[in-house]
Amino acid sequence: MSEAELLFSETSKYLKSEDVNQLKNAYEFGQGAHSGQFRKSGEPYISHPLAVARILGQLRLDAPTLTAALLHDVVEDTHISKAEISERFGQPVAELVDGVSKLDKIEFQTQAEAQAENFRKMLLAMARDVRVILIKLADRLHNMQTLEAMRPEKQRSIARETLEIYAPIAHRLGLNNIYQELLELGFRYSFPMRYKVLVKATKAARGNRREVVGKILEAITAKLHEAGLDAKVSGREKHLYSIYHKMVEKHLTFSEVLDIYGFRVVVKDIPSSYVALGALHALYRPIPGKFKDYIAIPKANGYRSLHNTLLGPFGIPIEIQIRTTEMHRIAENGVASHWLYKNSETNLNDLHMKTNQWLQSLLETLSDTKDSLEFLEHLKIDLFPGDVYVFTPQGKILTLPRGSTVVDFAYAIHSDIGNCCVAAKINGENAPLRSKLKNGDRVEIVTAPYAKPNPSWLGYVATGRARSHIRHFLRTIQYDESVKLGERMLAQALISFHVNPESITATQWEKVVRDYGLKSKEELLADMTLGKQLPAVVAKRLAFPTESEASERIGSDPITIMGTEGLTVQFARCCYPIPGDVIVGLFKKDQGLVIHTHDCTTINHSQKTMDNCLDVTWGKDIAKTFSVKIKAVAVNKHGVLARIAAEIAKVKSNIDDVAMESDNDYTTMRFTLQVKNRYHLAQAMRGLKRLKEVLKISRTRS
Ligand code: MN
Repeated sequence: MSEAELLFSETSKYLKSEDVNQLKNAYEFGQGAHSGQFRKSGEPYISHPLAVARILGQLRLDAPTLTAALLHDVVEDTHISKAEISERFGQPVAELVDGVSKLDKIEFQTQAEAQAENFRKMLLAMARDVRVILIKLADRLHNMQTLEAMRPEKQRSIARETLEIYAPIAHRLGLNNIYQELLELGFRYSFPMRYKVLVKATKAARGNRREVVGKILEAITAKLHEAGLDAKVSGREKHLYSIYHKMVEKHLTFSEVLDIYGFRVVVKDIPSSYVALGALHALYRPIPGKFKDYIAIPKANGYRSLHNTLLGPFGIPIEIQIRTTEMHRIAENGVASHWLYKNSETNLNDLHMKTNQWLQSLLETLSDTKDSLEFLEHLKIDLFPGDVYVFTPQGKILTLPRGSTVVDFAYAIHSDIGNCCVAAKINGENAPLRSKLKNGDRVEIVTAPYAKPNPSWLGYVATGRARSHIRHFLRTIQYDESVKLGERMLAQALISFHVNPESITATQWEKVVRDYGLKSKEELLADMTLGKQLPAVVAKRLAFPTESEASERIGSDPITIMGTEGLTVQFARCCYPIPGDVIVGLFKKDQGLVIHTHDCTTINHSQKTMDNCLDVTWGKDIAKTFSVKIKAVAVNKHGVLARIAAEIAKVKSNIDDVAMESDNDYTTMRFTLQVKNRYHLAQAMRGLKRLKEVLKISRTRS
């Protein structure tokens, strides 16, 4: 059977025959429109929309969705218009196709802006109709499945976008099967070497595992049977991406990750879930602190299950998930289960309501945020997996992204509460507004009628919702009010440099205002309130004009670190930060802003929370190179250093300095290299790893 015939026969199992006929029409129409177009793989273009429709057919989506899937690239890539689709296939299909079509490229200055604006359009369409994103996800899945045909750079950038945006959206909507496949493919093409190594390693390990898995499976099944439960038990193979992620996140070795065994128990109803949990606790001792009850408190994407880690035979940690059949379906297909299991009951409504709430909050952020790059930033924050569950004084549960603060909580309740919050009690104890919330915290917000949002909140809020409300407020306050606020912020910054705000002369002011290209002191103060200028940077220029001038004369690359124009910027000689590292800036009296990696051990905790510490980000398209230190341990052999140097030269990195220590067998070499960024460094290190004389290679800090 051809792909097209497969689609029609698969969908005829659940669609009416007139709907299947419409699919046939759409297929023929699409084939005509795309005729003469080919994919990078050499196949006729229509094979792609066809595959996308089949993915959605497997989720039993309705006829308009499948029709739109068959036509999804027609408006973008052929001369067919939206109006024509509407005429032939109806308005709903045309709207869906339009939702997944990109905007005209000509409208944008930069690639980043175009990408951000396209996302904005797509998400707007998705908030109106969730089927838009289902088509887009199926589209992306098929593109990822066929990524092999693309150039490596293209593969990497598409893969990265998949990991950053599409996979998290799939996750947020509970489409676990699609999510896992996107992660796996995204990982494979972003880190091809690591992927290959892990594939090989897991293959090798699987044989040994099989026996252990079988034994545990038997024991669990017997125990549940003994408890009178009708349960399906299965061993879970770990996905490569999740192995990789655990290794990186928890600093575990490959075997440590692989030594955790996962099992899933599916039972018929909720009471049985808890009975099963009890039975398994009697079989293997639970490890304290690992139990999570996502049945009582579902995840934001509707996921429900009991999770726990038990101590199995030979001290093997066993992760178990216990859930009902219904929960299992939702866990696999999330919002799509709405179409898959039309007649199944209550939980789906709950899930749908949650999804709608999320889409609604996205819409709100969208309408408050005019800048699409800013919106994309909000979206990434909102999508970041890992939520905390906290309680209102009335016992209502709120789900917030990890890292959320009291202010985020206040805005999550209501924008008025957020705008007027002054303090909070967490679990009955007074807590500052910037406190980060933990699972299970009970949070009570104290408001004052005349309180107003403070721009400094922008420095620590974690949700897009809070951020956009604060920005919105700051934009709408009266000009003179924002000037006053700016004055206070500047005074604080000056005091942290031990400079009396009164001591700044009119001439100093005039010069700085002119440097910024503004007309008045007031304008500059107002800009600070709006977050357009950093108070610390302005304060620095006012208080130490000569230093700032010196740096301007040298012409230090103004875009290396965002928002530091005209400020002396140095890179710390302890941690050697390079683009790609997460960084913080510390103000030093005579050195200006010193950039460290965020985890640099020389900046201690108290410094981090002080006012002179800035969260900074790298600029875009940085042209210069940076010093970085690496350590290589190699076997003592003739010509090793020369080979290492050649390998470094191959990736166009320079060696600034090298120090060596040898004993009888090994030489430890410490290099200072010049690299462009983390990726460049990784290339250099990968090259060295390939040399058989090199035993160990690492980046060193401090
Ligand atoms: Mn497509």
